[in-house]
Amino acid sequence: MTYKNTLEFALNLDEQDELKTYRNKFHIPVIDKKETIYFTGNSLGLQPKSTIDYINTELQDWAKWGVEGHFHSKNPWFAYHEMFAEPISRIVGAQPKEVVVMNNLTVNLNLLLVSFYRPTAKRYKIICEAKAFPSDQYALEMQVKSSGFNPKEAIVEVAPREGEQLINNDDIIAAIEEAGDSLACVMIGGVNYFTGQVFNMEAITSAAHKVGANCGFDLAHGVGNIELKLHEWDVDFACWCSYKYLNSGPGGVAGVFINEKHCNNTELPRFAGWWGQEKETRFLMEKGFNPIKSAEAWQMSNAPVLSMAAHKAAIDIFDEVGMDKLLQKQRLLSGYLEFIIDDISASLTKPDKSLEIITPRNWKERGCQVSVIAHGYGKDLFNQLTEEGVISDWREPNVIRMAPVPLYNSFQDIYHFGEILKKAL
Ligand SMILES: *Cc1c(COP(=O)(O)O)cnc(C)c1O
Repeated sequence: MTYKNTLEFALNLDEQDELKTYRNKFHIPVIDKKETIYFTGNSLGLQPKSTIDYINTELQDWAKWGVEGHFHSKNPWFAYHEMFAEPISRIVGAQPKEVVVMNNLTVNLNLLLVSFYRPTAKRYKIICEAKAFPSDQYALEMQVKSSGFNPKEAIVEVAPREGEQLINNDDIIAAIEEAGDSLACVMIGGVNYFTGQVFNMEAITSAAHKVGANCGFDLAHGVGNIELKLHEWDVDFACWCSYKYLNSGPGGVAGVFINEKHCNNTELPRFAGWWGQEKETRFLMEKGFNPIKSAEAWQMSNAPVLSMAAHKAAIDIFDEVGMDKLLQKQRLLSGYLEFIIDDISASLTKPDKSLEIITPRNWKERGCQVSVIAHGYGKDLFNQLTEEGVISDWREPNVIRMAPVPLYNSFQDIYHFGEILKKAL
């Protein structure tokens, strides 16, 4: 598409947008009586207007039924999480039995590592990306330590090459080959939270399997944002949160993917609780853990229904639209944002000032997020954007992360952002 930096052009794209009515299904934050330009759906997605009714339904059923609500409420709570298997499997490219909604992201990452990082004296290394999200770093460090290994020896970080911002996929593959049979597991953020770079998960998984290692991904920034085919790619495990692109509310319930082949392996070590027990025997309260042959086996506790109700409201919208349409619009939106930033950067005349997009320009290697280094600018720039109603994210020393999302952002949002940015610069 040939973009133009004009209001007329943006209005026209909005007019043609098949998903334009969806914006009205969300609460857009208003500051000083003006709708904000909300570019932080990668951090906390906006609230669907339907969420309140979904939660109210469960509150009313709780009031009406008390404990009987586990079986008699409109959406019986004992099986509430089962409603997510189909729609979530469509979002991540899985079979329904391979996914379960439970806990929170870092909790799940730890549970998955218990099963899929099983170091031995010979095979003990784990590969991750350099500067992984801190929570993931801490989880890996302590998993390695609690298995009796030294993080300095066991954790192999793959970094960008000298002077570069992105991590070369070939370097990840090379690190896997080099680690060879000392490699137990690969665990990488499928979409880098800082640069927005999407890794080649299929190739990384295949390389890990070639040396006999497990391979998993943290998809906090991938789920609901990019095309995922976890089953087809033969990924062993994955986890994600629901409050970023999935719009399910602060601290909302998270989800995991566990490859079918592992679901069928009842011998696989794991932490366990009664909600992972075969359903026929769960309430017999007898000795002996007998895992369900699905991702549900990793679920330990009964479902947090109120948080799941918010999740259900959001996922029903995703299921109504479908990932294909979201991806189509997402590519146009991030492309337009890239164009506007380039256009404005080209008009800057001082040699030490420029805007550098560090997110890959190839749409296959990015999702909604565009990360920009504001060379020659400090946090003042970000503060001015915020004052003018742009909600984005600032990372020291000078990176702005923005993620226009297809469900509720418009092309006008991006055009108006451009005008505000121009003024601020
Ligand atoms: C957002 C994010 C987290 C947050 O973890 P919680 O357990 O949900 O608090 C962890 N890892 C990555 C990569 C993230 O992007």
